[in-house]
Amino acid sequence: MNIDDYKPNFAGHDTSWIFKRDSDVIDWNKLGNYKVRYTPRFFGITQTLTIKVVDKTEPVITLDTIGENEYFESIDAAKARPYKAVDNYDGDITENVEVNYRIKDAGSYELIYTVSDSSGNEARVTQPVKITRGIIALTFDDGPSETITPQILDLLKEYGVKATFFVLNFEGREDIIRREYEEGHTIGFHGYSHDYSIYESVDKVLDNFKKIEEQVVETTGGESSKVIRFPGGSSNTVSRNYCEGVMSESVKAVEEAGYVYYDWNIDSDDAGSAKTKNEIVRNVIGGIMPGRLNVVLMHDAAGKEATLEALREILDYCSLREYVFVTLSTKTTPVHHGVSN
Ligand SMILES: [Zn+2]
Repeated sequence: MNIDDYKPNFAGHDTSWIFKRDSDVIDWNKLGNYKVRYTPRFFGITQTLTIKVVDKTEPVITLDTIGENEYFESIDAAKARPYKAVDNYDGDITENVEVNYRIKDAGSYELIYTVSDSSGNEARVTQPVKITRGIIALTFDDGPSETITPQILDLLKEYGVKATFFVLNFEGREDIIRREYEEGHTIGFHGYSHDYSIYESVDKVLDNFKKIEEQVVETTGGESSKVIRFPGGSSNTVSRNYCEGVMSESVKAVEEAGYVYYDWNIDSDDAGSAKTKNEIVRNVIGGIMPGRLNVVLMHDAAGKEATLEALREILDYCSLREYVFVTLSTKTTPVHHGVSN
């Protein structure tokens, strides 16, 4: 925008050179009509022109980039991603952004963000997103074991699937932990000990996580995943035998310590009544639901042969349906049970 674009003229001739204009009446930062007086330098009559300050620049919409392998469990989850719209005159107009989508092909969508500023300049940004019918996080507790864990790792490797292991003290089995780490799995912390007496106090609960975290970091030489799972889950009632209210305090304390705790929403029941491969397969597959992160609880402790057998069938079933496997991190949406102590 430049005031020289607005020139008084008489009979089609540019006569700006003979005029003095009081351009200071224009506030370029404010839209509107401004009357600008042109006074002749030598003779003649004063001319007044109305100069309209308009916004011709469209707003700018900014989105977080979506990783190539990032999937969403529903179109609503994808739409809930943060975005921002800023206009050179109107400022922050994020609340006016409309988010729509169109389907490109199976599982492949395009989010369409549109917004207009008060002068009617429209901005439009599109973002491809991938939606899957099932996002699955396989989690294995109570390992590593010499017998089961390496075979689970072989299977996961065969299918190209990454999982999350919530481990216990693994002294003497460091090689398995290093293998989990090197093969790209997430190593979460179940606790140095699984003994429920850790629930005698919040400090004991925290120390139990810190101790296994140190052991893992020292063994892998990598960074801590910061993801944890309480022995018995956050909804356990066994802790009542040790300390009233310890879970309510602990869930707060672990978050303050920078951990993210995960429960599960699919229980394979391989630590409960599911003793056979078929029961475990049924429990897991029957629990998978679209529109959410499916966190599957399984165990890779010694003796879990049925889990190992079931895993192949589960991986077959899920691969055929192009379900997506993810590992847990501090960035995934936590799945929490209700605390009951
Ligand atoms: Zn456990």
